[in-house]
Amino acid sequence: MSEPIEFDNSYCRLPHSFYSHQGPAPVSAPSIIALNKLLAKELGIDYQFLSSPDGLNMLSGNSIVDGSRPIATVYAGYQFGNWNPQLGDGRAILLGEVISGTGHRFDLQLKGSGPTLYSRGGDGRAPLGPILREYIVSEAMHNLGIPTTRSLAAVSTGDSVQRETLEPGAILTRIASSHIRFGTFQYFAAKGDIKELTILADHVISRHFPGALESTNPYLALLDNIMKKIALLVAKWQAIGFIHGVMNTDNMLVCGETVDYGPCAFMDEFDPGKVLSSIDSAGRYAYQNQPGIAQWNLMTFAQALLPLLADAQDEAIDLAKNVLEGFPQEYADQYNGLMARKIGLSSDNPSATDLVTSLLQILQSQNLDYTLAFRSLMAVMAGEPSATHNSKWRAWTQDWLQQFNNSTDRADAGSIMSALNPVCIPRNHLVEAVIEEAQSKGSFESFDQLLAVLQQPYDPKWLDTTYARGPEPGQAVLQTFCGT
Ligand code: AMP
Ligand code: MG
Repeated sequence: MSEPIEFDNSYCRLPHSFYSHQGPAPVSAPSIIALNKLLAKELGIDYQFLSSPDGLNMLSGNSIVDGSRPIATVYAGYQFGNWNPQLGDGRAILLGEVISGTGHRFDLQLKGSGPTLYSRGGDGRAPLGPILREYIVSEAMHNLGIPTTRSLAAVSTGDSVQRETLEPGAILTRIASSHIRFGTFQYFAAKGDIKELTILADHVISRHFPGALESTNPYLALLDNIMKKIALLVAKWQAIGFIHGVMNTDNMLVCGETVDYGPCAFMDEFDPGKVLSSIDSAGRYAYQNQPGIAQWNLMTFAQALLPLLADAQDEAIDLAKNVLEGFPQEYADQYNGLMARKIGLSSDNPSATDLVTSLLQILQSQNLDYTLAFRSLMAVMAGEPSATHNSKWRAWTQDWLQQFNNSTDRADAGSIMSALNPVCIPRNHLVEAVIEEAQSKGSFESFDQLLAVLQQPYDPKWLDTTYARGPEPGQAVLQTFCGT
């Protein structure tokens, strides 16, 4: 008889210094909160199984299905600029990998499934609130077209977790192309374990960047590939108004997917200096700092790779520098292209960058909502009477409209814009309301509704609903918490 899930555990075939064998700790009364049917299908996982009692046992960590070899992986990282030589999956367990119908390999990981060797005194558990938040925001990111880890399932455990108060516990099943972090490389590099570093780099090349093998220096090609993935990722964050909030190198995946939905937030009003995370008092991870931090993180990552780049250190440093110096241009090209298209222009339109810059200045000085402002432009483009605004806005829109010569141009621009300017984003006040209802009433009705809306974030059918609006005064969330 075939197994319910065909696991293949390539990470387990790496040396034992990469992980420790660790099963999940059982929970007392698990029940399903959410199961992602579409994602199960993409992964080739039998939905019938997931929704069965055996499936629930797997998703809650109460049993291990045949073929799964659960482990916790080790890594290190720069946290808020400070080096931490040993972190690791403190509350996550990798059940194994699955190969999807399209031949892609994905990690299946439980988050909140009990302590591991790397828990550093933590309980290894997760409260319900942050699990709901990660489920909603990660799925929204995916549907917005941003590379991200995904959520296959959320279950409540029936147990409480002690934080400031007692909170209901939950477990997320997280899917990633891999959970290998900048900090995984940094862990081995810092210990001087060059053999392990090489094995890890080879594993990442064969898993994520097989094209690098065609290069004369595959490890340099690996760095270049990762630099480009991260430039694209952060450009997409900036264009959609996403603030990650905790861009530590243990939260940067080499596959270029967004990971760690702790203190993240979508901006309401456009403010480049915006910081929402309660633990980021210095504003290190403010919205406008994200590209620069990405480059700093890449610099520390490149440092870890140096021993593989060339025999002579000077030469290795020159090679790495050369790649890193390409980051600003790579990022700018991606960001400018996205922003040009958000105002209906092609990336190579010579006026695009200036128009975007002056638009953003207007948004900032008038405290306008970032997402709604672009939707207003779409209305202007469609010839609808402009609900907004004042003379500066009108002057800008007149300049802008001159870029389009006729109704065909305007129709084309409208369709470009509609693909990049969402109607709905997972606004903080919406997410908070869902969590509050789940915690106080044990009801997941609002959660299900918000999830359904964010499945199609660009669909104009939501235009006149509360999901498309910014927060009312008093509704705006001013601070987010990392949710450990
Ligand atoms: P984060 O800030 O979520 O990126 O977490 C940083 C590190 O702390 C990671 O290695 C986590 O696995 C670990 N960690 C976070 N919360 C817990 C917890 N409740 N129990 C054990 N380890 C945790
Ligand atoms: Mg993390």
